[in-house]
Amino acid sequence: MNIQMVDLYGQYQKIKDEIDLAMQEVIRTSVFVKGGKVNEFEENLKEYLDVNHVISCGNGTDALQIAMMALDLEEGDEIITTPFTFVATLEVLALLKLKPVLVDVDINTFNIRPELVNNRINHKTKALVPVHLFGQCADMESLSHISRENNLFIIEDACQALGTEYIFKNGLTAKAGTIGDIACNSFFPTKNLGAFGDGGALYTNNDDLASNMRSIANHGMSKRYYYQQIGMNSRLDAIQAAILDVKLKYLDQFIAARQAAATVYDQALSGIPGLIIPVRVSYSSHTFHQYTIQVPEKRDKLQSFLANKGIPSMIYYPRPLHLQEAYQYLGYRKGDFPVSEELSEQVLSLPMHTELTEEQLEYITSSIREFFS
Ligand SMILES: *Cc1c(COP(=O)(O)O)cnc(C)c1O
Repeated sequence: MNIQMVDLYGQYQKIKDEIDLAMQEVIRTSVFVKGGKVNEFEENLKEYLDVNHVISCGNGTDALQIAMMALDLEEGDEIITTPFTFVATLEVLALLKLKPVLVDVDINTFNIRPELVNNRINHKTKALVPVHLFGQCADMESLSHISRENNLFIIEDACQALGTEYIFKNGLTAKAGTIGDIACNSFFPTKNLGAFGDGGALYTNNDDLASNMRSIANHGMSKRYYYQQIGMNSRLDAIQAAILDVKLKYLDQFIAARQAAATVYDQALSGIPGLIIPVRVSYSSHTFHQYTIQVPEKRDKLQSFLANKGIPSMIYYPRPLHLQEAYQYLGYRKGDFPVSEELSEQVLSLPMHTELTEEQLEYITSSIREFFS
């Protein structure tokens, strides 16, 4: 049995004709950068998300950088996020000479704990960057409350949560990334909506931020060859936009396939002593960008046991960011974020994609049960 962490080719084969046609169409028109296809995709994604503006860009990391540049911050301004995330979240802050201020995550959700945010806020704090890790939203209602009281921006790192629904206490729902001031998304091939290369997008409901971000992503240009600010060259190319536009039509189906696989995992793996299945919160759907279990005692042994049976698994993330060499200058030490540190030693992400078969899931889950028996 050939089990992969992510089966991109299998997914492509099912929609090959449509994707090939869309790519050929771009080649025929030979508008490879910007142009109609990119606009069309932005429009369709805008509609899917129910948000006022979608601005495509080169990748998710650029999206985070463009968002931060659009806020008119000053060197040393403080931005609150967590150490249990992909490095990009922190990296762009460092590059822009902003000060990342870290707070720990919740042991059950892997997401930022709003209770810990309040005592890290001071006059230099300008923004919160919640990460909707593994496909489940952070507690946005609590964070929105904190941001309103302290006049802070919220930049959602929604790179792993395209399609996730946030559920407000009053029962209304909104797509992940449409709740804060700006959201950043990535179309890296393995993300919920993956390109055949790099891609990214920003979303916002704020007209001024939208036009500012559009300008920043295009060299800070106002009108052609007139530059009002220092910008970047960050754009989604038309072939990627064409591919993404086809795949967007299937996004809800893709998500349903991930959720179905997660349900099989949940049922087969619940109740095993020494293994904790992902916790689902009441305020968010879960699109399972990753299906991440916790194995407090023998995670590494389980991983090699599975590898010997041809079952891949991944550790997201093996070392929290405050303990990474590049970020020692922030002055954090081991013990500062005990939950993130503990998680890095016990998380294990199982194969998760849109093409998992019942047979494969049965093989994976029975192998895990065998390990614990
Ligand atoms: C993937 C990812 C990014 C960066 O996206 P790229 O397109 O790879 O630059 C940022 N933050 C999180 C949480 C991610 O998962």
